[in-house]
Amino acid sequence: PQSHNPRCIPNAQKQPIHRLSTPIVPYRNLPRTIYLEILMKVHEYQAKEILAHHGVPTPKGKVVQTPEEAAHAFTELGGPVAVVKAQVHAGGRGKGGGVRLVRSPEEASEAASAILEKPLVTPQTGPEGCKVQKLLVEEGLDIATELYLGLVLDRAEEAPVVMASTEGGVEIEEVAQENPDKILKVHLSSLDGINDEETSRLAKGLGLGAETAESFRTLLQGFVKAGLSLDSSLCEINPLVVTGSGNVIALDAKMNFDDNALFRHPQIADLRDLGEEDPDEVEAGKAGLSYIKLDGNIGCMVNGAGLAMGTMDIIKHHGGEPANFLDVGGGADKDQVKKAFQIILSDPKVQAVLVNIFGGIMKCDTIANGILGALTEIEMKIPLVVRLEGTNVDKGKEILRNSGLELTAADDFDEAARLVVKLAQGGK
Ligand code: ADP
Ligand code: MG
Repeated sequence: PQSHNPRCIPNAQKQPIHRLSTPIVPYRNLPRTIYLEILMKVHEYQAKEILAHHGVPTPKGKVVQTPEEAAHAFTELGGPVAVVKAQVHAGGRGKGGGVRLVRSPEEASEAASAILEKPLVTPQTGPEGCKVQKLLVEEGLDIATELYLGLVLDRAEEAPVVMASTEGGVEIEEVAQENPDKILKVHLSSLDGINDEETSRLAKGLGLGAETAESFRTLLQGFVKAGLSLDSSLCEINPLVVTGSGNVIALDAKMNFDDNALFRHPQIADLRDLGEEDPDEVEAGKAGLSYIKLDGNIGCMVNGAGLAMGTMDIIKHHGGEPANFLDVGGGADKDQVKKAFQIILSDPKVQAVLVNIFGGIMKCDTIANGILGALTEIEMKIPLVVRLEGTNVDKGKEILRNSGLELTAADDFDEAARLVVKLAQGGK
């Protein structure tokens, strides 16, 4: 099914999500550049509400949007200490100054101003950072220990896996890199929840005292139930804190949801915050296009997600960098092709465009006419390479040849990619 919110993740950050036990082709030698993960993200405060609903203890807090509201929330919480936290769809906020401890309404107001004032840059946002529109003002907790708790699907083992570590907090990524054996993994035997034996292994592995272990068991059951029953592709509590008095509380929470399962959970789909998404991506979505902005300089217009992924891989193989993933879908018309060109060309980094279309349901001559129609209405100042294949390919190529448009028609995929990479680098 078409997804409204696919995300592309360079493999530097992400392990392959599809694992073939016996590779059909020796793909190891190919530059497998990009993996597509289709998901919806929610804010920390929303993830906490979901977890709280499943019996996971969370701190008291209030969502605000202005410094005045932050000061007011501090007073309402009534504690000597509160924490003002940026609500954005990116982690690493603590390291980027997006989580601030405050001791008075004035300090809460100042912290809120400072966070709202400029884009928040964290190790997960890139240098341009992201705009903060909401804050969570939360009671400050007395933290004795910071643990880590995560739930994902282990595709290799074909089972959900709960990960836990005593090394929770803002350095968990480093722990995973440098001391992977500090992360305990327990695979679950059922999709209905976690059983007593699995729970005990985790409690024991974390070295919890008897009383803490008891409240941890309840928390863990709620956590797993929430993740599994809502088709969460990632559910994380980091840190899970043990307070001075031995209670366990989820201090930070992150939940991603599998897009393809959202129809089963309309209450989750309603939590989508378009303000957190790239405006071009949202606009493309409205036009029925799946578009994801990437960092390179070669714009890609392709039909079908698989061919779009393949196109990006071959561009990388020839030393180029794709500027986007764009799937115009199986039945794109002239208006959609025009919209797709507009979106691709609105990215100032784009130096050349590759149109790679397989005419299956839609015939190549229809596609060629669509391209033609779109290009008579918009100005194209950079090189364009078009590769068509499939039904009526000769007719399609003829239409392009006779169009008088300045474009290069490539005969095959490899040649098209090689050409566009050269043209983007300023070659002829
Ligand atoms: P991120 O993971 O995006 O950096 P967190 O919510 O995990 O953000 O906050 C970072 C750190 O800030 C936590 O590890 C914790 O030490 C501290 N912190 C966050 N919330 C609170 C709170 N309510 N009370 C006390 N300390 C907090
Ligand atoms: Mg955290």
